[in-house]
Amino acid sequence: MRRGDPGFQAGEETPLPPFGVSRGILTQITASVFDMVKVVKRAYKYRFYPTPEQAADLSRTFGCVRKVWNLALQARTTAWDQRQERVTYVRSSAMLTQWKRSDDFAFLAEVCDSVVGIDAGITSLATLSTGEKIINPRHESRDRARLSLAQRRLARTQKGSANRDKARLKVARVHARIADRRKDFLHKLSTRIVRDNQAVVIEDLSVRNMVRNHHLARAISDAAWRQMRAMLEYKCEWYGRDLVVIGRWYPSSTTCSACGHHAGPLPLNIREWACVTCGTRHDRDINAAQNIRAAGLAVLACGAGVRPQRESSRAGGRR
Ligand SMILES: [Zn+2]
Repeated sequence: MRRGDPGFQAGEETPLPPFGVSRGILTQITASVFDMVKVVKRAYKYRFYPTPEQAADLSRTFGCVRKVWNLALQARTTAWDQRQERVTYVRSSAMLTQWKRSDDFAFLAEVCDSVVGIDAGITSLATLSTGEKIINPRHESRDRARLSLAQRRLARTQKGSANRDKARLKVARVHARIADRRKDFLHKLSTRIVRDNQAVVIEDLSVRNMVRNHHLARAISDAAWRQMRAMLEYKCEWYGRDLVVIGRWYPSSTTCSACGHHAGPLPLNIREWACVTCGTRHDRDINAAQNIRAAGLAVLACGAGVRPQRESSRAGGRR
């Protein structure tokens, strides 16, 4: 971004990608707005003040970018000076893969290649392939209790009375509060997941199964998961991440993530199981998240979908 470009205010001098991210970063976003006949280009300029946590992430990312650039430059210079060879993009890319594998630069893989699989659950809202379990926020059960109290009070009031209006308002307020807190929680979670990973892999949950199950816990977690998925979709788009959606017929819960053995149907109350083939003990949800991640990696690597497995979908799906 140059100073004095038409349409820009000449602001402070724009820093090059900063080495420590203590100063604000200028970002330019150009959007095309179709206005009946002509295309209007709009530019917005943002100054972003990262929190200490974000600053650390950014420094790490810029550190990696700088490291890779320097390594590649060094490789190119040496190749030309000593052997008059040119290093193509393809070769540089192959070198990067090598570097990521070596212990010295293992941290590169952490930033460049992190892919996370997410399993949507009931007892915990989600489980990540890293082993992290996202439990439903603790305030939720208290909020639910408050809601049912307010609803009981409303039911006892007389139609058309002033007390009924008051009680109705109270119920609406509790509802709004629950929705707000949940949304806030999901925003923080989805932002963190998208920010920390280059690709996010989720499962396309069966709509049919959702309707069939009338349990309240299930209904709530389904609603939250739908919201979460929508957030992941647009945030991945914003931040240039890949979102891979795996078909619902994929038996992520019942396949051993260590050896690929298919264990057959596992009742929902079984939270841990051991693979009969390789002996690995699995936490049901973490194993599922790891399989989802593996399926996503396959999609990312070859661009191909994972084929449906007829048997397993007939056996009643994943759950
Ligand atoms: Zn196994």
